[in-house]
Amino acid sequence: MNPASLLKKYGIRPRRRLGQNFLVSERALRQIIEAAELTSRDSVLEIGPGLGVLTEELVGLARCIVAVELDEALVRVLRERLGERANLTIHQGDVLELSHVELVRRCCGDAESYKAVANLPYYITSRVLRKLLEEEPRPKLIVVMVQREVAERAVASPPDMSLLAVSVQYYSVPRVVGIVRRGAFVPPPEVDSAILQLRTRAAPPFPDVPTEAYFRVVAAGFGQKRKRLANSLSANLGIEKSVVSSALDRSGINQQARAEQLSLEDWARICRELASG
Ligand code: SAM
Repeated sequence: MNPASLLKKYGIRPRRRLGQNFLVSERALRQIIEAAELTSRDSVLEIGPGLGVLTEELVGLARCIVAVELDEALVRVLRERLGERANLTIHQGDVLELSHVELVRRCCGDAESYKAVANLPYYITSRVLRKLLEEEPRPKLIVVMVQREVAERAVASPPDMSLLAVSVQYYSVPRVVGIVRRGAFVPPPEVDSAILQLRTRAAPPFPDVPTEAYFRVVAAGFGQKRKRLANSLSANLGIEKSVVSSALDRSGINQQARAEQLSLEDWARICRELASG
């Protein structure tokens, strides 16, 4: 049954505050499923199953699915429609307040190589992505529907980098699978969307630079919009400008550069030079 009929049948009015835009496009649904490369051995975390359109596909393809939904009314619909499936756990709760890893481990046995698949509620996209990428072990594959602009920022390259692009590309190899127009949802959101696939890396990209130090420097570099890199790094890391300037010189990076122009490798070089004084 399509989302419009389900909403009618259960007397549910979509709650915009919870980012409830239900997917109606069969094509977009297929693209998500294909990008998730599901096998009968997979454990899958679905965030925001809504009326269960995507969930229904997942239960037919994967070994174990945990679907986390905040809205109690939708949880009731999901339980009535799909609750009987042996490989599905429907968990009512806020995805930002729980440990993905613990939930998957508890429901699926282990979380060593799970996948995350979701049509994300847009008001929490960045926080969910950050959580998925930072909590270990991270999913081996993440396939999410996000705002088009977020997907394009995630796959950007210099000179259009952002903290989001560096974080996503540090932990994964991202790919925009397809653009999804707003008419593919009920009700339609205000912006177009995109399906983003993140294939997470087995190990951090710069083994000699600790992740924590790397992101301290990157966050400091992006800390002051439109400021030159040397000024932002010096102000936000509390390091003398002359020390920063010399580290930039030794890294082969122009003193006038801005954070948006740097590659992941550039940041690693700056970290090494700052660490060696
Ligand atoms: N998966 C469905 C689909 O594709 O049609 C619904 C996607 S809709 C964009 C986002 C879903 O996330 C809604 O069902 C909403 O209630 C749920 N949601 C919103 N905030 C949430 C949160 N903090 N934790 C878990 N689910 C949440």
